[in-house]
Amino acid sequence: MNTVRLKLRSFTFLFVKSRARPADAHPPLARWDSRTVFQFCRTMATNFNNNNTNNSNDNNPETRQQLDPRKARQKEPLRRLKIRENRNKRGFDDHGPSTVYLQVVGAGSRDNAASLYVFSEFNRYLFNCGEGTQRLLQEHKLKAAQLDNIFLTSLSWENVGGLSGMILTLKDTGVPECVLYGPPQLEKYLNAIKTFSGPLDDIKLSVRPYTEEAYTDDTMTVHQVPIFAQSKDHSRKHSPRSSSPPRSPASPKEDDIHLNSCGDSPGSPGERRTGTRDASLVVSFICKLHPKKGNFLVTQAKELGLPVGTAAIGPLVKALKAGESITFEGREIRPEQVCTPTDPGPVFIIIECPSEEFVQPVCTNQHLRRYQTGGTEDPAVLVVHMTPESVLNTDQYKQWMERFPSTTEHLILNQQVFTVHNVRSHKIQTQLNMIHPEIFPQLRSYRTKEPQAALHVPNVRAECLLKFQLRPVMEWQRDAIPSCSTEEFVKEASEVPNFLEEVEKSRKICSTDAAELSAGKGDKYPEVVFLGTGSALPMKIRNVSGTLVNISSTQSLLLDCGEGTFGQLCRHYGDDVDDALSKISTVFISHLHADHHTGLLNLLYQRERAMTTLGKEFSPIYLIAPVQIMTWLNRYHDHCEEILSHINVVPNTFLTDDAEVPKQKTKSLIKALLKKNDLTKFQTCGVRHCKNAFACSFTHQSGWKLAFSGDTMPCDAFVNIGKDATLLIHEATLEDGMEEEAVEKRHSTTSQAIGIGMRMNAEFIMLNHFSQRYAKIPLFSEDFSDKVGISFDHMRIRFGDLKILPRLIPAVKTLFADDIEEMEERRERRERRELRHQRHQRGGSSEVNSEQQRTTTGRGAKRDQEEAATHDVDAKRQKTSFSS
Ligand SMILES: [Zn+2]
Ligand SMILES: [Zn+2]
Repeated sequence: MNTVRLKLRSFTFLFVKSRARPADAHPPLARWDSRTVFQFCRTMATNFNNNNTNNSNDNNPETRQQLDPRKARQKEPLRRLKIRENRNKRGFDDHGPSTVYLQVVGAGSRDNAASLYVFSEFNRYLFNCGEGTQRLLQEHKLKAAQLDNIFLTSLSWENVGGLSGMILTLKDTGVPECVLYGPPQLEKYLNAIKTFSGPLDDIKLSVRPYTEEAYTDDTMTVHQVPIFAQSKDHSRKHSPRSSSPPRSPASPKEDDIHLNSCGDSPGSPGERRTGTRDASLVVSFICKLHPKKGNFLVTQAKELGLPVGTAAIGPLVKALKAGESITFEGREIRPEQVCTPTDPGPVFIIIECPSEEFVQPVCTNQHLRRYQTGGTEDPAVLVVHMTPESVLNTDQYKQWMERFPSTTEHLILNQQVFTVHNVRSHKIQTQLNMIHPEIFPQLRSYRTKEPQAALHVPNVRAECLLKFQLRPVMEWQRDAIPSCSTEEFVKEASEVPNFLEEVEKSRKICSTDAAELSAGKGDKYPEVVFLGTGSALPMKIRNVSGTLVNISSTQSLLLDCGEGTFGQLCRHYGDDVDDALSKISTVFISHLHADHHTGLLNLLYQRERAMTTLGKEFSPIYLIAPVQIMTWLNRYHDHCEEILSHINVVPNTFLTDDAEVPKQKTKSLIKALLKKNDLTKFQTCGVRHCKNAFACSFTHQSGWKLAFSGDTMPCDAFVNIGKDATLLIHEATLEDGMEEEAVEKRHSTTSQAIGIGMRMNAEFIMLNHFSQRYAKIPLFSEDFSDKVGISFDHMRIRFGDLKILPRLIPAVKTLFADDIEEMEERRERRERRELRHQRHQRGGSSEVNSEQQRTTTGRGAKRDQEEAATHDVDAKRQKTSFSS
């Protein structure tokens, strides 16, 4: 753990400024609106992120405490209300927040786009919400449910990719309102996500674009500053914050979509088509904390003989804190003798300057100019640059940075960072890697080849959870930055009783098996890489659905693509990620629940970037998906970013057995995709889940066949199309004994999934899509055999490995023995509850009472609550998404 603290070079400016209140601050009244009540309600909402279902290694009593949602619910609003009451009594003029800090969530790496969390005792904010942001908030215990506002610098997928999932989670946890700031097209974005999320009636979503006046709450005033690019070609903002050159626009028509909603951009406003997309716009945020008056120093006052502790002191303190000198017993007492100085309210600025077209507009912007040396306002204490090295490296941008005084800190978020975000994922992978290094390969990271810009101002590179504290003391804080030590993870696993022995045993068995296998079946392809094996929403250990099938050394196919699939790919392949991406020619989307498709756009944009980097000719992917996905993609294309040139769509319905004959164009697409992947057949069938949900199976020229269930209850049609599959990948969301719940959510239990595999006569069955309550490992059922395996994120299997997978299970079970024990206890409690319920219905029994007492107290009960909360979000997500 790094605990180095970098004190600010100069803290003195705070003492120099004496203006108590900025001219542009809102009158106090504006800060006390319905939000007070609203925030109370909001904090009453259970914080999902606290409901950590797999914290057996997390023994910190404080974090354990946080896990209890009831406690969180009681404590939080009271604390905040109390603060408010006190402020109310004293008046608000001089009582800005006393604790404020900015914290890096995503540092801007290729797998975790730039995002910032801002905390005060009154409010919580998020700046940008790329894919995986929600997962990071969950892992690092930053409470999403308490976010007051989300600010977005642009509508690039990098900044908004995680927003749909975030909104769904906020809605599911009962947050009543969410306000979004930034480009006006945000409204259209929200409309677009409703095409797959359902109506979103339970949460009030509002957009306050930059055209509206400054936003003020208890913590600060935020001014939105629109910045328009110079060039007219903004059909898409290409590979933002990266060094890759842009691909030429797909068609000349695309150029015409440029439209400037405000009309004051340089150049012509462009033509109106149906769309409102405007990649020439980014929004900067100037944030000014409310002033806070100094504290009265009791000891000093006593030394000067002031009547401390008597009624006479009241008016004296008031005058002194207001900056007035007083006369006491003939002596003049100046405020600075007995008060700490007033903090007029520091300013921090968040800027995205995604490409060189924005350099001139940023550097000449008059709003920003005010906070530089010689400007009309106090200079910014911190400027956050979401800016790629190529932009930082331009002379103009460098000079612009130098126009801030030397007291200004600069924080840079871009791909030139080396920080681990997903620590828990690294940990579990390191430990599984001890069991089998090829099946559980170590995670890797992508390192940019871009050279670091030589800046002339001191600057700090972002790291996950790095803090810049504005109050009480202005300083960088590094103590929250997570450590990620492979040795420690290995050591921890080595200390698990019997683990090393089991690993040794499985190694011996595997080496014998491997010798057998090398006689024939040890082919390198096909190879299956599980990128996400959890359901509902991305969590720290299991990401949501995404399975890569590497068909040959040059061809890959992706089965489902939930949020963060690209990030997983990036951490799996590291520097080879471009190569892996460029091989993907086909994506199958089973259905339109958010956990199965919201990672698609990033995958497509990153794939385009990969092809450019590798000098490969770009070609669209074959997208086999429910045709309803086009409503979403069209809307995003029209109002946010260009996407349609990336895909050739083959609706799932055209690949079913009884499909109507497709038009010539679709026919030839199907033919082409089969040829491209060396497949002889690709089939889909409707399954028993939500409307327009499909499973698929495909057969390779060399004879192997793979069947993939998507989400479904046991389904006969799927048995038919998967007949004699070499490998079946089947969802097993719930454990045995939860059949009723499985029906309710239209999912399968472990044994149901295995049963389908048996009926299908599948050679091997891999289970996946586990409820997030089984974060590390699902519960096993009696139906497990040597034909069944369970999937983990980043697991990589070749067909030759299938035989040895069951041999690894004893070692895996030993590693997670504690978790399994807890889950089994939970199951027992559930079964006892059900039994009680049945008995109760038959007339009740007194013996039940003592049992009940035992089970509803202590650790077990707590776990049950946590489970219930996870389950709740899980279930709600299912229900609400049905409408899509
Ligand atoms: Zn799902
Ligand atoms: Zn689903």
